[in-house]
Amino acid sequence: MASDSQAQPKLSPSTKAKLPKKLKKEKQPAALPPHRPETALEELGWIRRPQLTALGKLGITTLRGLLEHYPRRHEDRKRFDHFPDTEGDRSFCLSGTVGKTTFRRFGRMRSFEAEIEEVEGSVLSARLTLRWFNLFHVQKSVVTGTRLIIYGKPRLRGKRLCMEHPEFEVVTEEDRQSIHLDRIVPIHPAGEGISVRVIRGLIHRALGETDWSVWIDPLQHQETDWGTALRNIHFPELLETLEPARRELALRELLGIQTLVTIRRNEARRPRGAAKSSRGDLLSHFLQSLPFALTDAQRKSIAMIHEDMACAHRMHRLLQGDVGSGKTVVAAVAMLTAVESGHRAILMAPTQILAEQHFRNFQHWLEPLGIPVELLTGARKAKSTSQARALSKARHPGVVIGTHALLHNESALEGAGIVVIDEQHKFGVLQRTHLANSPSAPDVLVMTATPIPRTLAQTIYGDLDLSILDEKPPGRGTLRTAARTSEKLPEIITYLTGQLEKGRQAYVVYPLIEESEKLAAKAAEAEITAWSERLAPFPCKLLHGRMSAEEKKAVMESFVQGHTKVLVTTSVIEVGVDVPNATFLLVENAERFGLAQLHQLRGRIGRGTHTSTCVLLEGSGNPEAMERLRILEKSSDGFVIAEEDLRLRGSGDILGTAQSGLPPLRITDLYRDADLISMACREAERILTADPSLAQPHHAPLKQLRVEYALRLATTGG
Ligand code: ADP
Ligand code: MG
Repeated sequence: MASDSQAQPKLSPSTKAKLPKKLKKEKQPAALPPHRPETALEELGWIRRPQLTALGKLGITTLRGLLEHYPRRHEDRKRFDHFPDTEGDRSFCLSGTVGKTTFRRFGRMRSFEAEIEEVEGSVLSARLTLRWFNLFHVQKSVVTGTRLIIYGKPRLRGKRLCMEHPEFEVVTEEDRQSIHLDRIVPIHPAGEGISVRVIRGLIHRALGETDWSVWIDPLQHQETDWGTALRNIHFPELLETLEPARRELALRELLGIQTLVTIRRNEARRPRGAAKSSRGDLLSHFLQSLPFALTDAQRKSIAMIHEDMACAHRMHRLLQGDVGSGKTVVAAVAMLTAVESGHRAILMAPTQILAEQHFRNFQHWLEPLGIPVELLTGARKAKSTSQARALSKARHPGVVIGTHALLHNESALEGAGIVVIDEQHKFGVLQRTHLANSPSAPDVLVMTATPIPRTLAQTIYGDLDLSILDEKPPGRGTLRTAARTSEKLPEIITYLTGQLEKGRQAYVVYPLIEESEKLAAKAAEAEITAWSERLAPFPCKLLHGRMSAEEKKAVMESFVQGHTKVLVTTSVIEVGVDVPNATFLLVENAERFGLAQLHQLRGRIGRGTHTSTCVLLEGSGNPEAMERLRILEKSSDGFVIAEEDLRLRGSGDILGTAQSGLPPLRITDLYRDADLISMACREAERILTADPSLAQPHHAPLKQLRVEYALRLATTGG
């Protein structure tokens, strides 16, 4: 390790402040310093201070950071598109000369317009208007006679064909022979204080000056080395070389992630003290008391869990099963096994509503067996903390069910033999790690109803063993889904009233608008009166995330009891809520939800023996949105839907926040690159077996990543 770091002094962003002086001195005599990936940009010596600051704002501080600032797209500036003659949804890349410019003012709004002309030979062949609103800097660079390259969609405004706020670049004759013209040109994401053109220049120079011999490639046997792939992704000679380069880089990106995940997995499966197994008396009582027989899938998962719990390594398992597949019973069996062997069992749910529901079920199931069940949520904190403390003093191996509040309650976690996390995707990896790291080293079972595409499961959840409930309990009524436009609302209301008359119950769901539960709550609030009138005399009640815990509980109880017939609500009911008599779900503005989320929502119905109906109302009038919703009409398989979601929305959205505690995917497309994941998996496995501490020089980039993300977990963890 020591010799390795001598050969490869690493400059992580946090240590670079101390190091540069010394390095600079050493570098003086050499003509070109060996630019390593970790080299701080300021050390290159030719990037000006304001540019360094602007790059810093984009999170770019090292040479590697700069070269991994991948282009969003490329323009082939050897041949431009012809000027469009009508509006359309395709983007055009055009080259032309600025003619007349005008400046207008409408009240507070100001607009700047420029005619742009396509010149072929010396003949003016076509014309287009470019238009910007309230953008003063544009008129400084767009002046009559300059040559522009523009990129945007043509729109008809009155009789004129316009491009509004197109991307543009001013080019000059000197740009011929340069990186900006007459070639395939990368368009990188720009930022405040730094233009696309400047970034292009910096990256081009950095690529040229980099000494690739000191860029150690962790993948040694690839056809294309790292440096070539980087050169090709930024400045390809041919468009055809882009995709192979992208895949090479994606493979390296995935290798980094797989290395972290494999390390995590090895850590999670630490050996433990006592294995848990029991005589199984309580367990058989419990199973006999259930009003149904377990499905084969449930049996299989339980067998895997029992095997895990009885072995010398801790359990770290993901139980994945579509909505309604019966995960809770499996969790109860695992928890009971821990209790029976003298440990406490913990169940954490993401919402209070869900925690209360589990609490009711577990009370019903376990208290007849003499096992105390406690509830610990934010709302009941004071009371249950003292209860939990009393429990912990008594060292009673009971069951504690709660929300996030559990994370802050050391005494409840004391002596925990198993921790079950329900709807795990609602929590971050940090919370999972926090629970798993409790002093009693509990087994960990995480459950999710969001069917994660296999590719994704192998990446972000690659540290977990997997059990799948791929079978629904028998005796469920059918569930039909219909995507409709808002005009159909009157018919829908008639149908819904019919259902209510038959004694059934229903949900009406309003979407989050701009990610704000506050606004969704408002929409639902505004609609509750309308729904009460439409459906009179059936009682409708409002339920949303911004109500107090007590209010929520009261509304939910009244719905469970059947007093309230319709819940007008938001996606707070997305996870877990189980009221078998509810058979109708209407989602307003369904186009605002992801497919996977809609699938979750419709999991609230179809839980009893009656036929259920889910209506997705499309409110935008966009035919593409309707097409997307039709996928749900056709398929009821959560996995198919998750794959479709991944294909349509890209991996970025699905990975969502930095919840996974892993590096972001900058270039990988999990849909297209599924095959690379298993390759990266095998490679990470091989590397870590041969070199567990990543000490070999060519594993330096992986080691660097490990250090960086170990730090991140430590500083943000809690
Ligand atoms: P989810 O996997 O979505 O969390 P739940 O655990 O809430 O599903 O189970 C949904 C419903 O199915 C519950 O009412 C539960 O009691 C019931 N259930 C679970 N397993 C079976 C089974 N094997 N047969 C019949 N019903 C079952
Ligand atoms: Mg559930």
